[in-house]
Amino acid sequence: MSEKHLKTKKLLKIIGISALVAGIACVITGFVDFFSSIGEGMPKLFFLMFIGFPLTAAGAMMTIFAFRREIQSYTMQETAPVFNEATKSMSPGFQTIANAVSTPKKTCACGAENPAENTFCASCGAKLTKTCPSCGEQLNANDAFCGKCGNKLD
Ligand SMILES: [Zn+2]
Ligand SMILES: [Zn+2]
Repeated sequence: MSEKHLKTKKLLKIIGISALVAGIACVITGFVDFFSSIGEGMPKLFFLMFIGFPLTAAGAMMTIFAFRREIQSYTMQETAPVFNEATKSMSPGFQTIANAVSTPKKTCACGAENPAENTFCASCGAKLTKTCPSCGEQLNANDAFCGKCGNKLD
Protein backbone atom coordinates (compact mmCIF):
# COMPACT_ATOMS: atom_id res chain seq x y z
CA MET A 1 0.00 0.00 0.00
CA SER A 2 1.37 3.42 -0.94
CA GLU A 3 2.08 6.25 1.49
CA LYS A 4 -0.53 8.47 -0.19
CA HIS A 5 -3.12 5.75 0.03
CA LEU A 6 -2.42 5.29 3.73
CA LYS A 7 -2.82 9.03 4.31
CA THR A 8 -6.12 9.02 2.44
CA LYS A 9 -7.28 6.09 4.51
CA LYS A 10 -6.26 7.81 7.73
CA LEU A 11 -8.03 11.03 6.67
CA LEU A 12 -11.08 9.02 5.72
CA LYS A 13 -11.12 7.42 9.15
CA ILE A 14 -10.96 10.80 10.88
CA ILE A 15 -13.62 12.35 8.63
CA GLY A 16 -15.77 9.24 8.81
CA ILE A 17 -15.73 9.03 12.60
CA SER A 18 -16.17 12.82 12.95
CA ALA A 19 -19.15 12.77 10.58
CA LEU A 20 -20.59 9.77 12.40
CA VAL A 21 -20.24 11.42 15.83
CA ALA A 22 -21.47 14.82 14.55
CA GLY A 23 -24.37 13.13 12.77
CA ILE A 24 -25.45 11.23 15.88
CA ALA A 25 -25.08 14.42 17.94
CA CYS A 26 -27.28 16.30 15.46
CA VAL A 27 -29.92 13.59 15.51
CA ILE A 28 -29.96 13.47 19.31
CA THR A 29 -30.07 17.28 19.59
CA GLY A 30 -32.87 17.52 17.03
CA PHE A 31 -34.74 14.64 18.67
CA VAL A 32 -34.45 16.06 22.19
CA ASP A 33 -35.40 19.53 20.96
CA PHE A 34 -38.41 18.12 19.13
CA PHE A 35 -39.78 16.46 22.26
CA SER A 36 -38.82 19.21 24.67
CA SER A 37 -40.58 21.80 22.54
CA ILE A 38 -43.86 19.86 22.29
CA GLY A 39 -46.58 22.26 23.35
CA GLU A 40 -44.19 25.18 23.16
CA GLY A 41 -44.55 25.85 19.48
CA MET A 42 -42.21 24.91 16.62
CA PRO A 43 -39.01 23.12 17.57
CA LYS A 44 -36.11 25.36 16.58
CA LEU A 45 -33.45 22.67 16.29
CA PHE A 46 -35.60 20.01 14.62
CA PHE A 47 -33.86 20.69 11.30
CA LEU A 48 -30.72 19.14 12.84
CA MET A 49 -32.31 15.72 12.42
CA PHE A 50 -32.46 16.23 8.67
CA ILE A 51 -28.76 17.01 8.66
CA GLY A 52 -27.95 14.39 11.27
CA PHE A 53 -29.42 11.36 9.50
CA PRO A 54 -27.55 11.69 6.19
CA LEU A 55 -24.43 12.77 8.09
CA THR A 56 -24.61 9.64 10.28
CA ALA A 57 -25.17 7.43 7.25
CA ALA A 58 -22.31 9.03 5.29
CA GLY A 59 -20.04 8.89 8.33
CA ALA A 60 -20.85 5.24 8.94
CA MET A 61 -20.17 4.41 5.29
CA MET A 62 -16.84 6.24 5.31
CA THR A 63 -15.83 4.62 8.59
CA ILE A 64 -16.68 1.13 7.34
CA PHE A 65 -14.82 1.82 4.10
CA ALA A 66 -11.76 3.20 5.91
CA PHE A 67 -11.69 0.35 8.44
CA ARG A 68 -12.54 -2.31 5.89
CA ARG A 69 -9.05 -3.79 6.06
CA GLU A 70 -9.07 -3.84 9.85
CA ILE A 71 -12.54 -5.36 9.96
CA GLN A 72 -11.47 -7.99 7.44
CA SER A 73 -8.29 -8.92 9.28
CA TYR A 74 -10.20 -8.98 12.55
CA THR A 75 -12.77 -11.34 11.06
CA MET A 76 -9.96 -13.48 9.68
CA GLN A 77 -8.27 -13.63 13.09
CA GLU A 78 -11.56 -14.51 14.71
CA THR A 79 -12.37 -17.31 12.31
CA ALA A 80 -8.86 -18.76 11.96
CA PRO A 81 -8.57 -20.09 15.56
CA VAL A 82 -12.08 -21.53 15.30
CA PHE A 83 -11.06 -23.30 12.13
CA ASN A 84 -7.84 -24.53 13.74
CA GLU A 85 -9.77 -25.80 16.75
CA ALA A 86 -12.17 -27.66 14.51
CA THR A 87 -9.29 -29.25 12.62
CA LYS A 88 -7.58 -30.13 15.88
CA SER A 89 -10.67 -31.76 17.33
CA MET A 90 -11.12 -33.71 14.13
CA SER A 91 -7.48 -34.78 13.87
CA PRO A 92 -7.62 -37.74 16.33
CA GLY A 93 -10.16 -39.28 13.98
CA PHE A 94 -7.94 -38.55 11.00
CA GLN A 95 -4.99 -39.96 12.93
CA THR A 96 -6.83 -43.21 13.59
CA ILE A 97 -7.76 -43.51 9.93
CA ALA A 98 -4.21 -42.65 8.84
CA ASN A 99 -2.80 -45.24 11.23
CA ALA A 100 -5.24 -47.87 10.06
CA VAL A 101 -4.26 -47.20 6.46
CA SER A 102 -0.52 -46.87 6.98
CA THR A 103 0.08 -49.71 9.50
CA PRO A 104 1.68 -52.57 7.59
CA LYS A 105 -0.46 -55.67 7.66
CA LYS A 106 0.30 -59.27 6.94
CA THR A 107 -2.34 -60.91 4.84
CA CYS A 108 -2.58 -64.60 5.51
CA ALA A 109 -3.25 -67.15 2.78
CA CYS A 110 -6.67 -67.60 4.43
CA GLY A 111 -7.44 -63.95 3.72
CA ALA A 112 -7.26 -62.71 7.33
CA GLU A 113 -5.38 -59.49 7.99
CA ASN A 114 -2.88 -59.69 10.81
CA PRO A 115 -0.77 -57.00 12.49
CA ALA A 116 2.72 -56.79 11.04
CA GLU A 117 4.31 -58.08 14.24
CA ASN A 118 2.33 -61.34 14.18
CA THR A 119 4.25 -64.44 13.24
CA PHE A 120 1.22 -66.66 13.03
CA CYS A 121 -2.23 -65.95 11.65
CA ALA A 122 -4.69 -65.05 14.40
CA SER A 123 -7.47 -66.58 12.32
CA CYS A 124 -6.11 -69.93 11.15
CA GLY A 125 -2.80 -70.33 12.94
CA ALA A 126 -0.73 -70.59 9.76
CA LYS A 127 2.79 -69.23 9.76
CA LEU A 128 2.80 -65.67 8.44
CA THR A 129 6.52 -65.34 7.93
CA LYS A 130 9.07 -67.17 5.89
CA THR A 131 12.79 -66.79 5.65
CA CYS A 132 14.38 -65.81 2.37
CA PRO A 133 16.58 -68.75 1.37
CA SER A 134 19.03 -66.38 -0.28
CA CYS A 135 19.63 -63.67 2.35
CA GLY A 136 17.80 -64.87 5.44
CA GLU A 137 15.37 -61.90 5.55
CA GLN A 138 12.08 -62.46 7.38
CA LEU A 139 9.30 -62.09 4.83
CA ASN A 140 5.53 -62.33 4.61
CA ALA A 141 4.42 -65.86 3.92
CA ASN A 142 2.67 -64.80 0.72
CA ASP A 143 5.47 -62.57 -0.65
CA ALA A 144 6.44 -63.53 -4.17
CA PHE A 145 9.85 -61.86 -4.06
CA CYS A 146 12.25 -61.02 -1.29
CA GLY A 147 12.05 -57.29 -0.61
CA LYS A 148 15.69 -57.16 0.37
CA CYS A 149 17.57 -59.15 -2.25
CA GLY A 150 14.96 -59.61 -4.95
CA ASN A 151 15.16 -63.37 -4.82
CA LYS A 152 12.12 -65.05 -6.32
CA LEU A 153 10.28 -67.04 -3.70
CA ASP A 154 8.14 -70.07 -4.19
ZN1 LIG B 1 -4.86 -67.42 8.23
ZN1 LIG C 1 16.32 -62.29 0.24
